[in-house]
Amino acid sequence: MREFDYRRASDVPDALALLGAEPEARYLGGGTNLVDLMKSGVERPALLVDVRELPLDRIEATPEGGLRIGATVTNSDLAAHPEVRRRYPALTQAVLAGASGQLRNMATVGGNLLQRTRCAYFTDLARPCNKRVPGSGCAAVAGEHRNHAILGASTHCVAVHPSDMGVALAAFDAVVEYATADGPGEVPLAEFHLPVGDTPHRETALPPGALITGLTLPPAPVAAVSRYRKVRERASYAFAIGSVAAALDVRDGTVHDVRLALGAVASRPWRAGAAERALRGGPATAEAFAAAADAELAAAEPLPGNGYKVTLIRNLVVAVLTELAEESRQTEEAAR
Ligand SMILES: Cc1cc2nc3c(=O)[nH]c(=O)nc-3n(C[C@H](O)[C@H](O)[C@H](O)COP(=O)(O)OP(=O)(O)OC[C@H]3O[C@@H](n4cnc5c(N)ncnc54)[C@H](O)[C@@H]3O)c2cc1C
Ligand code: SF4
Repeated sequence: MREFDYRRASDVPDALALLGAEPEARYLGGGTNLVDLMKSGVERPALLVDVRELPLDRIEATPEGGLRIGATVTNSDLAAHPEVRRRYPALTQAVLAGASGQLRNMATVGGNLLQRTRCAYFTDLARPCNKRVPGSGCAAVAGEHRNHAILGASTHCVAVHPSDMGVALAAFDAVVEYATADGPGEVPLAEFHLPVGDTPHRETALPPGALITGLTLPPAPVAAVSRYRKVRERASYAFAIGSVAAALDVRDGTVHDVRLALGAVASRPWRAGAAERALRGGPATAEAFAAAADAELAAAEPLPGNGYKVTLIRNLVVAVLTELAEESRQTEEAAR
């Protein structure tokens, strides 16, 4: 590992100034991804600017009725927060489905969104990878791509974004807030991770040097009946090979509101807009759920080794929406 300096930032302007003064600096959250990448030589920062002690560790209600989540809130604290559990249960479930208890205690919200891909070629310095070395090629397309993307990929990169938390945040229209030396900014999570195109090394819409300060979740009454379901290769802890975050509000058998996002299918948490449009105002039946999944997956372009994901996601969407339809029916009945 390259030798590096370490500084702990005292406040947001200090963090921005420390990073701005060293071109090869990186912010350090929990370090659970960055330090691994430093060990493998993928990341070689000259300076780590530790942001974990910044006063960005609160979860607060917004005047509009949503929640604001600070960037240094740990995954564990986010999952355990009573208002997150009550108002956005799929977010709690998504966070708890990720990593292990020890990792969640260290990992932060900002770092989770910026974690890098888990494509094995990305961390293998002997293999070509357009994300690591732009223009060098992609070893995964003709190689091992079983866990890779089926939606929105390109021949330049087929890696998926590994975050579970991000999938629930995408379903609930989260907005990412950041600070730069020129002032604050924000970007919807749906636009935060960039489409792959021919520039897979450009991963997010964050301006250079920007510090993520937090996230805002708008009020979403539908989220009270929501669920995150993740399929992985072992139960203890593992990244998703497919996941679904969904929320459903059914009234008199008709879909009144729905939110749907998919994980481990694309380079970004995938908001399933086509499926949502197919469902809104229609019947809450298994047939309608399957048709909606098909509408979303019509754009899928699987590679030879990952076509199974199309069936997996279709089944997952139908199963989760069927469960939520029943839960919504019970909630409706209890309210009468
Ligand atoms: C064994 C293992 C299993 C895992 N399993 C899962 C899983 O199943 N699901 C899942 O979702 N995740 C999983 N993870 C990933 C884990 O959730 C991430 O490593 C973690 O969320 C990253 O957060 P961090 O705070 O440690 O980020 P760091 O490692 O500190 O940083 C990651 C990146 O974010 C940048 N950064 C950090 N904070 C900020 C900020 N505020 N503003 C701007 N940039 C910032 C850093 O510079 C770095 O580039 C796993 C990790 C491991 C090691
Ligand atoms: S899929 Fe992306 S991350 Fe993996 S080798 Fe290809 S370019 Fe690199």
